[in-house]
Formats: sequence, structure tokens, C-alpha cells
Amino acid sequence: MTGAVALCALLWAAPARASDLILHNGKVFIAPGEYADAVAVSGARITAVGAGEELLARAGPRTRLIDLAGRAVTPGFHDAHVHFWDGAQLSSGAGAGNPLEEAVASARRLGVTSVSGILEGDRELEAWAELQRAGKATLRYWMWGRLDAPADFTASRERFSSRLPPEKFRWSGLKAWVDGDFDGWTAALFEPYSDKGESRGSMLRSPRDLLRLVRRGRELGYSVRLHAIGDRAVRAAVRACAGASERAPWTPSGGAPAPCVIEHADLVAEADRTRLASLGIVASMQPSRMIEAGGGERHPSRLGARRRGAFALKSMQAAGVALAFGSDWPDRTLNPLAGLSAAVARHGEGEEGPDESLTLEEAVSHYTAGAARAAGAGRELGVIRPGYRADLVVFDRDLFSLPSGEILKARVDVTIFDGEIVYERVDAGKF
Ligand SMILES: [Zn+2]
Repeated sequence: MTGAVALCALLWAAPARASDLILHNGKVFIAPGEYADAVAVSGARITAVGAGEELLARAGPRTRLIDLAGRAVTPGFHDAHVHFWDGAQLSSGAGAGNPLEEAVASARRLGVTSVSGILEGDRELEAWAELQRAGKATLRYWMWGRLDAPADFTASRERFSSRLPPEKFRWSGLKAWVDGDFDGWTAALFEPYSDKGESRGSMLRSPRDLLRLVRRGRELGYSVRLHAIGDRAVRAAVRACAGASERAPWTPSGGAPAPCVIEHADLVAEADRTRLASLGIVASMQPSRMIEAGGGERHPSRLGARRRGAFALKSMQAAGVALAFGSDWPDRTLNPLAGLSAAVARHGEGEEGPDESLTLEEAVSHYTAGAARAAGAGRELGVIRPGYRADLVVFDRDLFSLPSGEILKARVDVTIFDGEIVYERVDAGKF
């Protein structure tokens, strides 16, 4: 235990009744450098965080106790960038019932309790409504429509919102694509690719078109999500967001969704890091994209030496950029540990490359609190604090004291969603 534990006073949200659930004798992650050893839950909310003896003193005869025996507890993971319907369809067996059912079960096993991503239309919404009706929708979903077709999103919203409760389903954003990806040399760069002559990739929209779209999305009250991977596309996205911003810059602690989010932001010019920070534009990054799909090589290999400047996680963080982490599932695995492990192992490449790795604590924060804040849920989710929704993950060991090479070996023992235990690993130690 660290000195920070002693500084963390017991926090109570005036519990009116005995706790339903107390997790004690563990390492409850609050923020980088800050842990408690116990957390208490009543109904769907966290009611207390602090020292085990004090929380246990208020247990009632019906309180369920979980002895963590040193295991780590984190907030439920919020994957800030998924294609959930695509992933569900890819992973569901042919002829299976609702393709979402198994995908949501996988999310529970991996400790993912919230996702943000683009909707694929009414068939997907119908499947969600069905899952919700069956009581199996143990996931919160921040849904985005297409920025070039906002009327479709509004129409879907009118058709489905009565069947999709707002504590789980939020009509939150509109997405547009500014460039492509490194794989097909379509990410837009300032300098040519290292293996494609003079090609610098291509922009999918003119600056004028982009500004018009971003303005429209903002006028409609949505969070605008711009896919931009190359440094030239990120610059264009920043300009459009700056041009469309009609109010004071967004602050992560304000409880409102980020007006502008750049999705991916793999390669960001140094000057733009500062601009992202000062304009309050969130970078929604997927650290597992640093590894080529299928494993092996560092990504993106076709940038040559400039690859060192890609995924500049630590520099982005140091510049004050609000980060939200995710997976880009099904392009990469949904398992948050893959992204966390990549973020922690992001050492500089070659002697001269700066060390861009994060601590595991920082990476977990971006994958929980950071993603929740970007979604506008920073006052109810993403942090283990009294009054917050009880979405929690118990790992099978103390995640935070593992050597970085062993992060992927950890397993989720228990996932708690809205105060309910929705997943328990079959062969997990008895508690
Ligand atoms: Zn994606």
C-alpha cells in the first residue's frame, strides 16, 4: 500500500440503509496514486469508498461481502470507440438469435460496461430493444449517427427512444470521416508515405465542407466525432472544430459531452497537441492500434522514422489533451487489457525516440474516467466515488503491481453493472 492510501479519507454519501454489497481488503483504484481498500454499494450506486473496517461496521444481515484478498477493483471500462453491431455480427454464429447477446456477454467477461460508437441502422436498434426487453442489456451505449445524414439519426431516435432507456442508451453524437487509414495509404499526411512515392494520402472532404458539417452537428446539439488518422487530417479537423466552436472551450470536469472529438488521432503534429488542449477537443485514441492487426509489427510501419511521433500518448497527455481510450473493435480486440498493455509498453522506437509510454494508472483513467467525461457522463460514471453508478470490475490479481509484460495475463473475476453482479468467472477463487 502506498502513502496515498492514508490521505484518502473515508467518503460517504449519507447512506440511508445498509449496503447491499461491500468489496473489501483489496486495491480499489480511485485515481493515479490514489487507492482505497473497500467500496460499498446500495442499489445501483456507490455509497462509500474507504477503509474496510469502517465500511464493514455498517454492513447489515443481507449485505453481500466480497473479500478481495488484495485483488484490484477498477471502474467498469468505457470503450470510447467501437463498431458494436459489426463486431456482434462477425462474432455471432450463423443463424444465432440476437447477435448482440453473445457480444454483450463478451463485454461483461472483459469488464466493459459502456461503449461509444456508430449505429448501423434500425436493424441494430431493433436488436438492442429486444435485448433490453429480455433484461440482458448490461451495457451502456453512447450512439452516434452519421454527420452527413443527421435526419436519419433523428428519425431512428423518434422510433426507438421509448424502448431504449436513457440510463443505458444515449443519442449522443454524429460522426464524419476526414481521411482513411494507413493500411491503404489513405490517411492524410503532411509528408509522403515511406513506401508509396510522393503519395501523402487523401482528404475525404474540403475544409469548407467539413466546417459546414461540424457547424450543423453542433447546431443540432450533438457531440461531433471526426475520424482523422494522419497529421494533415487532424489539422483539418482541429480547424473545423475551432471554426465551429460558438462557446467557451469544453472542460472535462463540466459534465457536458465534448463538443468535438477526434477519433483515432494516431499522428498529431506537435503544434496541434497544444491546440487540441486549448480548444477542449478530445482525442479518442485506441492504443491497441499501435500493434498491426493480427499482432506482430509496430503500426503504422509505412511512416518510416515518423512512426516514432505516432501514438505520442505521453506527449499528448503532457500537453493537456483530454484523452479517451477505446479499442476500435472489431478491428482490434474488445479486451481493454490489450489497449492498456500497449499504452504501457509504448517505449520510444530507436535510441532517439522519446518514451511515450503511460503508467497503467494513467491508461486505466483514460479508459474509464476519460471516456466517460468525453461522453458527458463524468459526473456519474468512470470513477469509484460515492454517488456514482456502481459499474465495477474485480480482477483476479493486483493489476497495478504487475510487470507490464504480464498485464494481458490478468483475468476479470467479477463485473458489476448498476450494482448487480452480472458476471462471475466460473473458476475464480471463492470469496
Ligand atoms: Zn472505427
